Amino acid sequence: MNPFPIILSAPSGGGKTTIARELLRRRTDLGYSVSCTTRNPRVGEVEGRDYYFLSVAEFERRRDAGDFAESAEVHGNMYGTLRSEVERVLGSGKHVVMDIDVQGALQFTRVFPQSVTIFVLPPSAEVLLDRLRQRRTESKEQLAKRLQSALQELQAVELYEYVVTNDDLTKAVHRVSAIVDAEVVSRERVDGLRHQVSLLVRRLEEEIRN
Ligand code: 5GP
Repeated sequence: MNPFPIILSAPSGGGKTTIARELLRRRTDLGYSVSCTTRNPRVGEVEGRDYYFLSVAEFERRRDAGDFAESAEVHGNMYGTLRSEVERVLGSGKHVVMDIDVQGALQFTRVFPQSVTIFVLPPSAEVLLDRLRQRRTESKEQLAKRLQSALQELQAVELYEYVVTNDDLTKAVHRVSAIVDAEVVSRERVDGLRHQVSLLVRRLEEEIRN
């Protein structure tokens, strides 16, 4: 099997982080790529598990050294995906779940064109607004920035291969999981398909001849 990256994007408050976490809990064939960010850790966040928290200078140094497969400014902070993280997970034979924004997703698919892209939609504007407001960690300005980028991110839905509406967490996780299962058996991803089919053909032709 050829493991591949699974990109989940959504407007802030779309619930993709929860979906990603739940998927990782349920499936042993998935791993997570821990991103780098220059934002401050929130209460309960752990270095190396939720993010690698870097200073702006360190982030820029790593970006200039070409360590990132993609990087973007989101809500006034820098975020980036380490090539080494993606390769570590793929190298272990697992698909790698990516929780990245729209700008980053576009850059990333150029570096890893075998990625599957999934856009997570909130079920309604009210739900999206409620989820955004419930984040008490945000200041007023941060919330305004998130609203603005949610607006922009929604416009990018057409660039994604799949869309999952997050009306119910369990259902949304099932849908994403079904996408992963379908992609594993999609024709372009099946290893040695030509060879497998040519063996079948040869055997059938032999049978016809005799
Ligand atoms: P948060 O600060 O709430 O954890 O994440 C804010 C936004 O940054 C989310 O939309 C999330 O998907 C995005 N994000 C997290 N990690 C990365 C990354 O490595 N690259 C990019 N481009 N965006 C990221």
